Amino acid sequence: MLIEQMAFLLTKARIVKVIDLLEVNLGVPRQKKARTDPLDMLIGTLLSQNTNDRNSHRAYRKLRSRFPTWKKVAGAPVGAIASAIRVGGMKNQKSKRIKALLKNILEKNGSYSLRVLKGMNDNDVIEMLTSFNGIGYKTAACVLLFSLRREVFPVDTHIHRISNRLGLVETKTPEKTFEAMKPLVPKGKSYSFHTNLIRFGRTVCIAQRPRCGQCPLYDECVFSRKEMYASAKHPVSSRRNTDFMLLDEI
Ligand code: SF4
Repeated sequence: MLIEQMAFLLTKARIVKVIDLLEVNLGVPRQKKARTDPLDMLIGTLLSQNTNDRNSHRAYRKLRSRFPTWKKVAGAPVGAIASAIRVGGMKNQKSKRIKALLKNILEKNGSYSLRVLKGMNDNDVIEMLTSFNGIGYKTAACVLLFSLRREVFPVDTHIHRISNRLGLVETKTPEKTFEAMKPLVPKGKSYSFHTNLIRFGRTVCIAQRPRCGQCPLYDECVFSRKEMYASAKHPVSSRRNTDFMLLDEI
C-alpha cells in the first residue's frame, strides 16, 4: 500500500477516535427537528461574523422582528437595517452586505429565496453561495450542514486551529482545512464533530493559553507546546455563553 494511502487511513482512524472522545466528554449533539430556511441561515451566519453567538442571535431576532420578510429588509434603508442589528457589532458593514446580498439573490433567483439550493448538489451550492460578495466557504458550508442537512463539515477558526494542533491536517488557512477534512470526516458525524469542536475550542483548546492539562485529547495531540501549557496555571473557566450555538437557534 502506498505511504500516502496508509497515512490517510491512519488519520481517518484518529479522527474517529477524536470524535468518540469528544462525544464521551461533551455529549452527542443532536440537530433540532425543524429545518431552517436556507436564506434565514445564510443571513444568520453572515451576522455571526466577528461576534459571539449570543450577540449575533440578538441581532438576528431584532432584524426579524423589525422586518418580518426579507423583501422588507431589502426595501429598507441601510441605516434602518444597521440600527436593527447594532447589538451584533459591525452594523454598517453587515447592513450593507445584507442589502447587497438580497439584491444579488433577487437578480439570480427571481425572488428573495434560496429554496432552489435544495435541488442542487453540494459543490453547486458552494459555488452559488460563494459567488455572492462577502460569503465564504465557511458560511456556505454552514448553510449546507445546518439548513440543508448535508454531510458537510464547516471549518471556522476554532476548527482550523484544533485540527492543526492535533495533527489531523497541516494547513495554513481554514479554506485549506475545509478541503483537507472533506474526505476524512465519517458519514453521519459532521454535525457532532463540528459542534463539539467549537465547544471544545471555546473552553479547552482556546487560541491563547490552551488548557492542555484538562484536555481529554491530550494523548492524541501533537502540539509541540502541550506540555508547557499543561503545567501552566489557568483561571477558573466559566461555561457561560460557551454552549449556545447560534446556528442551532435560527
Ligand atoms: S492538548 Fe492542548 S493543544 Fe492539544 S488538543 Fe488538547 S488543549 Fe488543544
